Amino acid sequence: MTFSVHGLAVARGVAIGRAVLMASSRVDVAHYFIEPAQIESEIERIRAGRNAVVDEIHRLQQTILQMGPKEAPHELTALLDVHLMLLQDEDLITGVKHWVAERLYNAEWALTTQLDVLARQFDEMEDEYLRGRKADLEQVADRILRYMQGVASPVAPPASNRRKTQQDLLLDDSIDVPLVMIAHDLSPADMLQFKQSVFAGFVTDVGGRNSHTAIVARSMDIPAVVGARSASQLVRQDDWVIIDGDAGVMIVDPSPIILAEYGFKQRQGELERGRLSRLRHTPAITMDGQKIELLANIELPDDAAAALKAGAVGVGLFRSEFLFMGRRGKLPDEEEQYQAYKRAVEGMEGLPVTIRTVDVGADKPLDDTKRDEAHLNPALGLRAIRWSLADPAMFLTQLRAILRAAAHGQVNLLIPMLAHASEIRHTLSLIDFARAELDNRGVVYGPVKLGAMIEIPAAALTLKIFLKYFDFLSVGTNDLIQYTLAIDRADESVAHLYDPLHPAVLRLVADTIAECHAQGKSVSVCGEMAGDITLTRLLLGMGLRSFSMHPAQILAVKQEVLRSDVSRLTPWARKVLESEDPAATLAA
Ligand code: PEP
Ligand code: MG
Repeated sequence: MTFSVHGLAVARGVAIGRAVLMASSRVDVAHYFIEPAQIESEIERIRAGRNAVVDEIHRLQQTILQMGPKEAPHELTALLDVHLMLLQDEDLITGVKHWVAERLYNAEWALTTQLDVLARQFDEMEDEYLRGRKADLEQVADRILRYMQGVASPVAPPASNRRKTQQDLLLDDSIDVPLVMIAHDLSPADMLQFKQSVFAGFVTDVGGRNSHTAIVARSMDIPAVVGARSASQLVRQDDWVIIDGDAGVMIVDPSPIILAEYGFKQRQGELERGRLSRLRHTPAITMDGQKIELLANIELPDDAAAALKAGAVGVGLFRSEFLFMGRRGKLPDEEEQYQAYKRAVEGMEGLPVTIRTVDVGADKPLDDTKRDEAHLNPALGLRAIRWSLADPAMFLTQLRAILRAAAHGQVNLLIPMLAHASEIRHTLSLIDFARAELDNRGVVYGPVKLGAMIEIPAAALTLKIFLKYFDFLSVGTNDLIQYTLAIDRADESVAHLYDPLHPAVLRLVADTIAECHAQGKSVSVCGEMAGDITLTRLLLGMGLRSFSMHPAQILAVKQEVLRSDVSRLTPWARKVLESEDPAATLAA
């Protein structure tokens, strides 16, 4: 029966495919696709894991037998019997083999997927005792997973797991239909793993429109919906679903008429993309001759290719923290970082690259296991530059790597989340120190322009201090909105209050642009507002000439730029800014 689930639209377009449910396991599990040649060895890994747990239980049973009837805890004996029975259950084994062989999931993913399927069957059981066995099933699966994690995986995520187009997918024998991922939550690190893989769309139960998970989904340029509340409970593995990324809706088990309608919409979207791609080499100049800089936001060095393809004239924000995530605490050393930054710089073929120093914390934990240690109010806690200043050795390593990469092209160094003059001075002294360290080692490095992100209202209200120390500013509207309005950007329950058009937000953005212009310093906006075509004209009217966004948004924004006449937009933008209800004035 067809039904729909509503959430928040985060990445445009329509995806039609079969649901892949990402089970939320208690053990941190890697998810990747294996090569067909690895099917046997993956199944063997699970078999070895299961056998090891069976042996462990047998050993425990032996110990209990030796205890004698009085001391032997009866409940434990019964529990072990149940666990053994579950471990030998055919549905568990056959199901896991299915996900490995048919879907090419790695062993851990296959196991958690099958666990999820069986857990739902347990939930539906009438008998209370049997329903309660779900917890036992989860326990045995966790033990197998822990065993497998203790034994190094012989299979690395294959390099060939590039993201395939829907057409590739349809031609691919191993995966014959597009797949869409439905999960309760996905961390930015999870999303990054999927960046190179096959999913045609994403839906999550939680998350705000500008959470980092949503931002990565948007950068992948595939339809995505977040904050869909109970989506992962309502959908079953393999259900057909439509994701409408424009409306923020997921339609489950669509009727043939609905399928045909969305198939049409999907083709319209592809035609529109084709039309926009013709603008790639067109300079971004307004009707009245204002030259506009359209830059790319990237997460990984290889994203430079997409930036160039979209006609970006540089990278305005390289979120370097994505190099640090999902590594189980082992951070990249100077050489690894240097190689990564150099790759991004060379990938941009002489165009400037703005590398932001690491911004972890809040909704970007280093890895999922760290989530448990989350502080009470992580968005206000040890995040971004605060984290870097608290760990100078880590920060200096990063600074040296960036300075060395600057020998290979134009690099700008951008610092996130500054608020205090003391933080600025501390940061600058560490940059000098990193240079001195490289001098001492006789290592070559290059010049960098220094920039600060304006994303805390305190910074936007003390611009003079920032302009004294920095060559350029970049407005991080995602956080500026969050901190100005006291709305957690990752919390779907307050998403309706997260308003880029709040007069206070507009005032802070407009003042930053005006102050930079008055001081002759460059300024850009690199938050999601920069890539939102409904705001392009307003930002142009507010004086913005440099926009940084995901490569996928560049051509649509360029189209808006080409249609704009800034001389007429300026007085109109002033009216919007002064209005009590800017959204209404904008729409009028
Ligand atoms: C921002 O806050 O607007 C920004 C660009 O940084 P991030 O989204 O990574 O916090
Ligand atoms: Mg930010």
